[in-house]
Amino acid sequence: MHDVIIIGAGPAGLSTAFWCDDLGLDTLVLEEDEQIGGQLHRVYNPIENYLGVKARNGEELFKLFTRDVDAAGFDLWTQASIASVDLKAKRISLESGEQLQSIAIVIATGVRPRQLGVPGEKEFVGKGMIESAARDRELFAGKDVCVVGGGDAAVENALLLAEVCPTVTLVHRGKKLRARRELAERLQPNNCITVFTESVLTRIIGEEEVQAVEIHRKEGIKPFQLAVRGVLIRIGVEPNSELFREQLEMNEKGFITVNSEQETRLPMVFAVGDISNPLAPTISSATGAGATAAKVIAARLNAR
Ligand code: NDP
Repeated sequence: MHDVIIIGAGPAGLSTAFWCDDLGLDTLVLEEDEQIGGQLHRVYNPIENYLGVKARNGEELFKLFTRDVDAAGFDLWTQASIASVDLKAKRISLESGEQLQSIAIVIATGVRPRQLGVPGEKEFVGKGMIESAARDRELFAGKDVCVVGGGDAAVENALLLAEVCPTVTLVHRGKKLRARRELAERLQPNNCITVFTESVLTRIIGEEEVQAVEIHRKEGIKPFQLAVRGVLIRIGVEPNSELFREQLEMNEKGFITVNSEQETRLPMVFAVGDISNPLAPTISSATGAGATAAKVIAARLNAR
């Protein structure tokens, strides 16, 4: 029997564990992946607004986190796949057959990049699919590329690629970009960026590597092919909440509903980080939510 089991070892889960450990709670962290760190491994641009820390990318911040994690006393199991969880009973069964029990459960499973679900998207990974402009743009210098999405991430990546690519085509399904004005305004004077609104990318085409994309613009107009050598998809994120769907209240997108103490509708079941739909999905809010959950759990256990 543990005091707390934390599911997920990204910044939110690790912060919760760090605080729980500091508050003297018997804490176990379960991470499905081989490595801990979650989305930090997908941050390729500099981290400049995490107070007191400047890091060249998520990997560098991750190394700072691991220094503290290694020194802490909580248990951490990687490659710990959960077969089922009974949140009311606080019982977890792992794929490996182990049965775990705790007084509190903290869900910190985060989000994953949303997929477009078109032919070629998976097949061309490493063969023309661009994971991040900050990381990959030198590889695509001098090549025509296409970016899908209409939010801050798509526009920011398009602007970065435009620094080294002759043409960047931004394909967005909506009438108007969703990106904040300062970013969107930087697209207009950029001669090499073309924005196709009310347009959908339907196929990524190529032999060994990406050679073209198929685009449908507005209904009624025939789809056409555009020759590109790189495709970057940035269409937001999806919550990793499937495991808890029948047991917790969530919004229509699958983000878990919590109160100001990070507690779900089930007593002693908490959710922290991006999975709990924070107003600002940032590393700072993730680590802060972890501290809140840990403090609340410790206070409840002490009051018993
Ligand atoms: P957003 O959720 O903000 O935007 C996703 C975009 O993808 C929307 O324009 C949406 O279209 C489109 N989209 C969603 N699903 C599909 C689909 N199936 N097919 C085609 N298009 C689709 O996600 P982002 O990744 O851009 O940003 C995530 C968060 O990170 C935001 O909070 C953002 O502000 C932040 N961020 C901030 C940056 C900065 O400040 N420099 C940089 C990068 C990210 P529609 O508009 O029609 O719904």
